[in-house]
Amino acid sequence: MTANTSLVFKATRSSHPRSVAEREEILANPGFGKYFTDHMVSIDWTVEDGWYDPQVKPYGPLTLDPAASVLHYAQEIFEGMKAYRHADGSVWTFRPEVNAARMQRSAYRLALPELPTDLFLESIKQIVAMDHAWVPSAPDMSMYLRPFMIANENFLGVRAAQKAAYFVIASPVGPYFAKGVAPVSIWLVEDYSRAAHGGTGAAKCGGNYSASLLPQKEAYENGCSQVLFLDSQEGKYLEELGGMNVFLVKKDGTLVTPDLTGSILEGVTRASIIQLAKDRGHKVEERKISIDEWRQGMASGDYVEAFACGTAAVVAPIAALKGRGFVAGDESAPAGQLTMSLRQELTDIQYGRQPDRHGWLKRLV
Ligand SMILES: *Cc1c(COP(=O)(O)O)cnc(C)c1O
Repeated sequence: MTANTSLVFKATRSSHPRSVAEREEILANPGFGKYFTDHMVSIDWTVEDGWYDPQVKPYGPLTLDPAASVLHYAQEIFEGMKAYRHADGSVWTFRPEVNAARMQRSAYRLALPELPTDLFLESIKQIVAMDHAWVPSAPDMSMYLRPFMIANENFLGVRAAQKAAYFVIASPVGPYFAKGVAPVSIWLVEDYSRAAHGGTGAAKCGGNYSASLLPQKEAYENGCSQVLFLDSQEGKYLEELGGMNVFLVKKDGTLVTPDLTGSILEGVTRASIIQLAKDRGHKVEERKISIDEWRQGMASGDYVEAFACGTAAVVAPIAALKGRGFVAGDESAPAGQLTMSLRQELTDIQYGRQPDRHGWLKRLV
C-alpha cells in the first residue's frame, strides 16, 4: 500500500440513503446523538505508510478483529464540534482548527498518530458537503460532528499504535439536556476523581469518560444531571464536570474558572466564553477555586451564578450544588442573567445572527 496523504477523498454515495420523509421526521425531533447521517469519513494509518485512503462512504458498522488494541487498552480519542445552519441556508462550523490542534495533543498523549490539520479540516468539509441536508435549520439545532481515532492493530502486546484509523460521523441534534436550557443541579463526587496529576485529563479520550460513568450514576441517583469533580491530589479544588468546563460568577461580574492544570480538558467553549466576557469588560480569573470558597461564597451572596459549558450543551446554567448531606444554592433558581446573555451571544455568533468579530466561523457549505 502506498502512502497517500493527499486531500483527495474517494467518495462513495450510499445506495440506500434515508428518504426525504424519513430524514424530515428525524430532524423534527432529533434528540441528542441518537440518529446518524447517511455517510461517514474514514482514513487509515500505519506506522510504515502514514495516513492513506481518505474516504467518505456509506455510514455502517466497522469490522474489527477481536484482538484490535482499542478493545483491550482503550487507545481511543475523539473530538466534538457542530455544524450550524445560517438563515441564508449556508452551513458553518466553529473554530475547527482548535479542535484539530487539540486532537493532535490528545493523539500525542495516547501514543496515537497525529492527524495533520489540513486533513482534519478536509474530513469535516467532506462529511458536511455529503450530508448537508441533515443540518437542521430549526432554532438551537445543529449537526454534531464526532471525529474519533482508534488503534486497530491486532496484537495483545501493549505498545504505541502501529496501526490506527480515523473516522467522522455526524448526528443531527437538538438540546443536550432533556430539559433544554433549564438550570441543572450538579453532584459533588467525593469518592472518585476524573483525572490524576500526570494522567490523561487534558486529552479527549474515551477512557476519561468510562471512569466518569459510575460517579455519574451516583449523580442521577441524587437527582443531579452532572458530576462535579475535584482535583485528585487534595480533593479540594474544582476541576470540571464529566464532560464540561465550569465557571462561577461573582456579584461584581467577575468570572472565575479553574486554571488549566493538566488534568482539565481545554474546552473551545471555555476559551470562547473567556474571550467574550473580556470583550465586555468583565474580569476573568483562571485560578484554583476551592470547594469551600464556592460554598461559602454561595452562602454569603458573593457567588451569584454558575454554569457549565461545552460544545454539546453550549452553556448550561447550574442552579445548585448537591453533595452528601448538603444542598448549596436553590434547585429551583432561574438561570443567571450573565450566564444566559453569554450563551445568547455565543450562539448568535455560531448561528450567524451577530458579526463574527474574532473570525471563529468557517464556512462548510
Ligand atoms: C469536550 C470536553 C469539554 C468541552 O470542550 P469543548 O471544546 O468546549 O466542547 C470539557 N470537558 C471535557 C472532559 C470534555 O471532554
